[in-house]
Amino acid sequence: MSEKIYIGVDLGGTTVKLGICTEEGELLHKFEGPTDAEQGPETVLNRINEYSRALVGNSSFSWDQVAGVGAGIPGFMDIAEGFVKLSPNFPGFVNVPVKKGLEERFGKPVKINNDANVAVLGEAWAGAGKGVSTLVCYTLGTGVGGGVIVDGRLCTGFAGMAGELGHMQIVPDLEAIQCGCGQYGCLETVSSATGIIRMATDAVERGDSTTLTELGSITAKDVFDAAKAGDEVACRIVNRAAYYLGRAMAAVAVVINPQRFIVGGGVSAAGDVLLDPVREVFKKYTTNKANEGVEIVRAQLGNSAGVVGAAGLMLRG
Ligand code: ZN
Repeated sequence: MSEKIYIGVDLGGTTVKLGICTEEGELLHKFEGPTDAEQGPETVLNRINEYSRALVGNSSFSWDQVAGVGAGIPGFMDIAEGFVKLSPNFPGFVNVPVKKGLEERFGKPVKINNDANVAVLGEAWAGAGKGVSTLVCYTLGTGVGGGVIVDGRLCTGFAGMAGELGHMQIVPDLEAIQCGCGQYGCLETVSSATGIIRMATDAVERGDSTTLTELGSITAKDVFDAAKAGDEVACRIVNRAAYYLGRAMAAVAVVINPQRFIVGGGVSAAGDVLLDPVREVFKKYTTNKANEGVEIVRAQLGNSAGVVGAAGLMLRG
């Protein structure tokens, strides 16, 4: 076989996940091992090298077929130069030339990017965005992350802040609360799991009549389940989370006119009870030409998005 393959590395604080992808983004083989982050950057880079070689060794491919390696890494980095400037969960990762260090070990070209961008790239390349060249992803979890793909390429922006969609300040001043970033009224304060739980807790503490009162500690899933069962307070909370997400998408639509919005992360498991009101609000607040044919869909790759996107960095990053 002379087919080219790409290795994707999803570097987490405790586990490194790796995968082999084809040029089309099909994930063929997986491997994972401990990061050993506490032993410092040299050890982490050695682990990535060992695991990559084990991954290929256990597959039907040869090392010669590896066309490149991509790595998604949490933290702040100089993407073009391949330096990790700072990664809070990795002791000693301060101005580490990760790209160069890996290229020396692999003898192959390497690209790095931050883990959130990489997961978006994976979803765009081989998941819910397959075949679509301009799209926007929202990841609704503890916070709200995101990413923007224009003409098939990841947008990182002047200072790497492109795609920080959770910090679009969308909630009007009088209703806004402070976000973890220091600003007020960010999308993340209402449309994340944290935001949904806060709205539910507030409602319970206010004494609103809701089945959520019967629960000890409330999760975002509890709120969606209650909404599906017809609880009015839960419906109001879900609709508020959906409303601001739809408004945010409407703002994005006239900037880059994406063909598809992809919604992933734990909160997206709620499905249409969340996405139907998002679609409605989006349509209402977007001028016709910017919403015709535009789809709002759920992400497909789940936990594999990081590995697939990392493998795609060499082709699409
Ligand atoms: Zn913010």
